[in-house]
Amino acid sequence: MKEIILIKNGELALKGLNRSSFEDILIKNMKRRLKELGDFNFTKSQSTIVVEPVSEDIDLDDAVEILERVFGIAALSRAMTCEKDFEKIKETAVSYLEDELEDARTFKVEAKRSDKHFPLKSPEIARELGGYILSKFNHLKVDVHNPEITVTVEVRDSHAFIRGNNIKGAGGMPTGTSGRGAILISGGIDSPVAAYMMAKRGIELCAVHFASPPYTSELAELKVMELLKKVARYSGVITTYVVPFTKLQEAIRDNCPEEYFTIIMRRIMMMLAERLAKSQNCSALITGESVGQVASQTIYALACTDCAADMPVFRPCIGMDKEEIIRISRKIDTFETSIQPYEDCCTVFTPKHPRTRPKLEDVLLAEAKIENLEELMNEAYENVKKVIIS
Ligand code: ATP
Ligand code: MG
Repeated sequence: MKEIILIKNGELALKGLNRSSFEDILIKNMKRRLKELGDFNFTKSQSTIVVEPVSEDIDLDDAVEILERVFGIAALSRAMTCEKDFEKIKETAVSYLEDELEDARTFKVEAKRSDKHFPLKSPEIARELGGYILSKFNHLKVDVHNPEITVTVEVRDSHAFIRGNNIKGAGGMPTGTSGRGAILISGGIDSPVAAYMMAKRGIELCAVHFASPPYTSELAELKVMELLKKVARYSGVITTYVVPFTKLQEAIRDNCPEEYFTIIMRRIMMMLAERLAKSQNCSALITGESVGQVASQTIYALACTDCAADMPVFRPCIGMDKEEIIRISRKIDTFETSIQPYEDCCTVFTPKHPRTRPKLEDVLLAEAKIENLEELMNEAYENVKKVIIS
C-alpha cells in the first residue's frame, strides 16, 4: 500500500492527437517543481497522471501544495493504493479516510472498474462499500446528490485506488505549451496579475523591467523581483531583464513636450521590450494595462503604444475593474508586495496634464525631437542586466 497523487488534466483532454505531448510537458513541469521535495515517478493512465513518491519520507502535503499551483491540472487528489481484494478495499477505505468520514455528515461512494475481471461490478462495489462505511460510522447518511465527501474506488489492472474529495487544481494549460511571451513588469498591482493570467494559458514567461536610478531605488527593483518570485510559483522560471532607463527618461524630459512624456516613455518601453523579447524567442508582449485606468491607457493612448511594437501585445487585464484585478492579486499573493510604496519609473517626470486623446502623428513628431534616440536605446539594450527568477 502506498499513498500517491492522482492528477486530472482539464482542457488537455480536448487536444486530440496533441494530448500526449501536452501531458509530457505537464509531467516535465510537475517534475521540475517537485524536485525540491525528492524524486517522484509519473505514469500516464487514461485521463489521469499518477504521481508516486519514490522515497518514504516525502511529505505529500507539501507535494499537493506545489501541484495546486501547476497549470494544466484541473483537479488532483491524494489516493491510497490497495490490493484488488474487496475485503482489503473496504478496510483501506475506512482507515485511510477515517478523519474525513468522521467529520462529514453525508457521503456517497463512486466506483470505477477498468479491470472487467474484478468479481464485483461498479454498482455492487459502491453499494457494498457504502453499506460497510455506514456500519462503521453511525452518524453518516448517504446523499447521492450533494455529499460532503465522495469516496471513490477505482479498480485498475494492477491495483485499486481509494480516494476522498478532489482538490481544485490551478486550471489552464501547462506552461510552455503556448510559446513564450515577455511581460513588462512594474511594481504595481496589474502587471503581476497579467503575467499570471498569460502563464495560465500556457505561455512561458520572460520579464522586462525598466529601472531609472537614482529616481527609482534599489528597493523598487527588489520589490519587482519579489513579485516575479511569487508569479514564478505558478509559471516556473522567469528569465528577467532589467533595463537601465534613466538616460532615456531624461532625454524625453529634456526634448519632448511635457504632455507627451508618458506616452513616449511607454512607446520606448515597447520598442526595447520587443527587442529583448525577440532575442529570447518570445512571440508576444504582455502588459497590465486596463482601458481607462490612467491617461496612458485610454484607447487613443493605447493605439499609440500598440504600434510601437511589431508583435502582438496581450493585455489580459484590459477589460477588468481594479477590484477584479485586486481579487486575483490577493489570490496569487502579490497584492501585499505590490502596495509597498516604492516609486516606479512611470511616476518619474509625470506630466501635469497628459494627453488623453493623443494623435499618433503628434506623438511621433514629439518623439522625433530626441535626436539620439536610437543610440540611447542601443546603449540601454547593451547594458541590460539578466536575472533568473525561480
Ligand atoms: P501596474 O500595476 O502594472 O504597475 P499601473 O496601473 O501602475 O499598472 P502603468 O504604470 O501605467 O499602470 O503601467 C502600465 C503597464 O506598463 C504596466 O502594467 C506594465 O505592464 C508596464 N510598465 C509600467 N512600468 C513599468 C516598468 N518600470 N517596467 C516594465 N514595465 C512597466
Ligand atoms: Mg505601474
